Amino acid sequence: VDSQGNATFKRLPTNQLVEALQLGIQYSVGGLEARQAHDVLFQDFLAVEIIHFPKGGRSNPKATPPHRFNDFTIRSYAPVAFRHFREKFNIKPADYLSSLCKPFRELTNPGASGSLFYLTADDEFIIKTVQKKEAEFLKTLLPGYYMNIIQNQRTLLPKFFGLYCYQGDNKNIRITVMNNLIPSHVQMHEKYDLKGSTYKRRANSQEQQKESPTWKDLDFMERHPYGLILDSETYNALAKTVQRDCRVLESFHIMDYSFLIGVHRIERSLDSPGDESVPFNFGNDPLSPQPKRMMYSTPMDNIHAEFDENNKPDGYLAKTGGIPARTIDGQKLSLYVGIIDILQSYQLRKKLEHTLKSVVTDGNQISVTNPNYYSDRFQKFLFTTVFKKAPQEKSTKVNGHT
Ligand code: ATP
Ligand code: CA
Ligand code: CA
Repeated sequence: VDSQGNATFKRLPTNQLVEALQLGIQYSVGGLEARQAHDVLFQDFLAVEIIHFPKGGRSNPKATPPHRFNDFTIRSYAPVAFRHFREKFNIKPADYLSSLCKPFRELTNPGASGSLFYLTADDEFIIKTVQKKEAEFLKTLLPGYYMNIIQNQRTLLPKFFGLYCYQGDNKNIRITVMNNLIPSHVQMHEKYDLKGSTYKRRANSQEQQKESPTWKDLDFMERHPYGLILDSETYNALAKTVQRDCRVLESFHIMDYSFLIGVHRIERSLDSPGDESVPFNFGNDPLSPQPKRMMYSTPMDNIHAEFDENNKPDGYLAKTGGIPARTIDGQKLSLYVGIIDILQSYQLRKKLEHTLKSVVTDGNQISVTNPNYYSDRFQKFLFTTVFKKAPQEKSTKVNGHT
């Protein structure tokens, strides 16, 4: 916060950052539309489009409007490659533009990194500031990541739809545009950021006091000692997806990522088709979108699972595509999940940290270790402690005399 009481990031007023980015993205994406789509070439991953926005505006070679800030520049990384990514997920340029050019909502970040998070008004995209080394890493990751997405769109890995850098007043601020995992029109009763480690994995007291805290591994184990129960097909589909995603992360030596789970409790009294009005918290926030399908992919799409016809959630919940689950005492849930925060590469600096931390604690329990170990522990935690497979009822149902 600066002397006039405005929110700042790297001493830049955040509203200025957002407006500048929106202007830059508009120009970059708008300009792309004029260009013929073609197959992505390797050099498209290396390309950087640089757009200057002088204060007074410019008429040549491409007009930019005058604005109330100092001169700034927006760099758009690999614009052609990212356009192709977006196309793969059915995101039309006009839709991307209209999502990104309306006012954002700022989210409070429970992370320690100090990154800013914004949500687009239509709930589809998250905008996150990233560190220089994370942006550099994403650039090197892009061709391989792209290859994986082309082969397999059913994934819980974060989808990066753009990487941009604001340059102005001697500052560089890098942001990524990603898919939003948590629909804001579905009330989340609990939210967990899980790593499969127990070392210091508890929400701190500041986080606990928030209206909607993000809880961690130890909190989960306390609150759900019997885990979250999935029917066996859903459990298998989820496990398979996470396994495949973890292989990809391992192959890039990535670690320190988390599994994000938003838990919506389905009210018992509303657990009947037809009554769909109460579980959603729209109305009090003018920016809150009307309930609708998450446009580009839902959790159920991502794990390649379908709702069980006998057990299908009601209208809105089916549309948001949350994963059906229940607790040991039969409370029905709808889960919103994905893997987040993957731009940490082991090779960059983790090795040293591991050596240091191992001296202090038991080497198994710390969250900084090597990528293969990290991935194994992550999956083991998710599929033994967090998710439990429901006993199969199929045979009794078929014979169903009881
Ligand atoms: P860290 O200190 O762990 O490095 P960070 O600033 O890198 O934190 P993340 O770990 O990426 O931040 O995310 C922090 C929180 O933001 C998550 O726990 C989650 O609540 C929320 N979040 C992150 N990505 C998404 C997403 N794609 N959709 C919805 N919520 C998200
Ligand atoms: Ca994190
Ligand atoms: Ca991080």
